[in-house]
Amino acid sequence: MERVVSPAEARQAIAEARREAKTIGLVPTMGALHEGHLALVRASCRRAGYTAVSIFVNPTQFGEGEDFDAYPRDMARDLELLAAEGVDLVFTPGVEHMYPAGSSIAVDPGDLAERWEGAIRPAHFRGVATVVAKLFNITTPDLAFFGEKDYQQLKIVQRMAADLDMAVTVVGCPIVRDQDGVALSSRNAYLTGEEAAQAIALCEALEAAAEAVAWGERDAAAVEQTMAEEVSAFRLVELDYAVVVDPRTLEQVTRIEGPTRALIAVTLGDTRLIDNAALEPPPVRVEDEKDAQEE
Ligand code: AMP
Repeated sequence: MERVVSPAEARQAIAEARREAKTIGLVPTMGALHEGHLALVRASCRRAGYTAVSIFVNPTQFGEGEDFDAYPRDMARDLELLAAEGVDLVFTPGVEHMYPAGSSIAVDPGDLAERWEGAIRPAHFRGVATVVAKLFNITTPDLAFFGEKDYQQLKIVQRMAADLDMAVTVVGCPIVRDQDGVALSSRNAYLTGEEAAQAIALCEALEAAAEAVAWGERDAAAVEQTMAEEVSAFRLVELDYAVVVDPRTLEQVTRIEGPTRALIAVTLGDTRLIDNAALEPPPVRVEDEKDAQEE
């Protein structure tokens, strides 16, 4: 596994892989790697002949007073984990490489970035879209792997690639959870023991939403209410939003008739946590239709 820190070195390493006609896969991360990240790495190793992983805690996606300085960093461990997965290239630039003095152009993340996380963290998706565009330009991936864990981010990156004619396929990968159902996140490391025990609030709310839909609830507001009630049972958890949205536009829906997505965000102590799940009514069985006609 090769490790490079400058964009020029990354370009050179990737140019060699290109000469060998390898498909390039990119997995952008902020490090403090866990099984969620490693699932993306494995997806890339399966589908691409050459896998590059970037580790960069991107300052432009953190707002004032957010956790940029405190964000967990463990480069030695990350490099070991990635070497064990058979990664070809790790790109670990410093802030001075990604944002040299004088850089001033950024990517406007568009309408998808206005609501939910974007409303609470105003400059966040501009920072994300900009750094991801830069990483795409440096590494020129054929495939880039992102987790559904950050669903709004995944949708914005897919939109950006389409709208800006980037020659990359952005692949969404399923959320990896611990044995209790809690979505893995580098930020879980911030939680105290008591807080960690309450982090199940998010997945329990999402499960309650899925159950309500499975039992026939089609009114999105009622499902949102179910999620809010579920969260209210957890003393340390403050709900930021629990909504049912159209998976393409991320706009709230009123009825759950086809594929929708439940998005949830909470504050637990000083830590913000997000999660989401697909919500879809079960397919109507032919017998049900017949029964309905006969009634
Ligand atoms: P981060 O290091 O938090 O910026 O995340 C890097 C990538 O890993 C993003 O595409 C995330 O969506 C993805 N990711 C983080 N946690 C998970 C998880 N629990 N399951 C799947 N993907 C994840």
